[in-house]
Amino acid sequence: MVALKPEPIGDELLTSYLARTAHLHGLNAYRFFAFHLPDLPIWNRDFDRTASSEGLKRVAALLGVSEEEVVAMTLKPYARHLAGDGTGDGAVQPWVNAAGIYHRVRRRHALQFCPRCLQAEPAFKRFWRLSFVVACDRHRCLLRDACAVCGAPVVPHRANVSIVGCYHCGSRLPKAPVEPHPFAVDQVLTVQSRLLDAVKSGVFDLRSTTIRATEFFRGLRMLLLLARERIRFTPQAAPELCGLPPYRLELMRAYDRVAIIALIGRHLLADFDALAAFLGNLGMTRAQFLRFGRLPDWLWDAVLSLPPGRAPRRSSARSLQRELVRIRAERSPGWRDRHAQLLMDWVGATHGR
Ligand SMILES: [Zn+2]
Ligand SMILES: [Zn+2]
Repeated sequence: MVALKPEPIGDELLTSYLARTAHLHGLNAYRFFAFHLPDLPIWNRDFDRTASSEGLKRVAALLGVSEEEVVAMTLKPYARHLAGDGTGDGAVQPWVNAAGIYHRVRRRHALQFCPRCLQAEPAFKRFWRLSFVVACDRHRCLLRDACAVCGAPVVPHRANVSIVGCYHCGSRLPKAPVEPHPFAVDQVLTVQSRLLDAVKSGVFDLRSTTIRATEFFRGLRMLLLLARERIRFTPQAAPELCGLPPYRLELMRAYDRVAIIALIGRHLLADFDALAAFLGNLGMTRAQFLRFGRLPDWLWDAVLSLPPGRAPRRSSARSLQRELVRIRAERSPGWRDRHAQLLMDWVGATHGR
């Protein structure tokens, strides 16, 4: 067991805490853990997200705390509500910023921070890794995802003396200026806090119905994916989406993700008519949703309000069959309409070729 332990600071990320523990012993994180847990790979992977249960047990034993306490400091509790069980172990987990680890190097800007929070408490928070988190509710400013001086990603465990120093140039991250942004922080914070509640509670309240958070996030991802594809043809429908880099949300920089969070609040969480109108303005069709396989129930009404469109060639009769079986088995409200509509779309699409 370690001799000295810092007090964990509210919702601190495990690797932030481990690095602080090492510094308390006068060593950097690499040396300290190479000595105490020599064969445990920690720093050359995304330990907060993908640590094995065995690895977490060993860390818990070293710190003299329960395994549950250590797991609670990782990103694993979020994963259950973001992507459901058994998913999210791939290179990129939905809604969690990807670190892009290559040996010791982090090629992506996965960890964000609020300079003012770091000034008050020298620790990195777990939710600063989430892709829909872009602002600080305490200081009402946008988060940063890089050193303001040299632009390096934030990698607390590579810092030698203090985790709030940039590992690359040594600048103090809490001294970084707060960045202005064209989108209203208040608007972004409202969306962010609703999504954070969902990730913590496992449910989301949408237009007076309560739905499972995994279903909500799955549908939201589909909408965003299609909206970002369609924006090329109809830029006037959502100017905030124009000019964003073409890759996934989890690989994007904080500044760019702000536009997406603003869009979620303005259109996707709006009342039903506004959502349907927005999807229509983007030129979406029901057929464009066929490629996702099963649609979450909360999306159905909006999708049914769209014109049928032409089915993509790849959508197979088998996936249609599976979806029809599911709809019949679950019999959730409005199932007959969906069942009929799917069949009509299919017939229309296959005959239209
Ligand atoms: Zn703050
Ligand atoms: Zn720097």
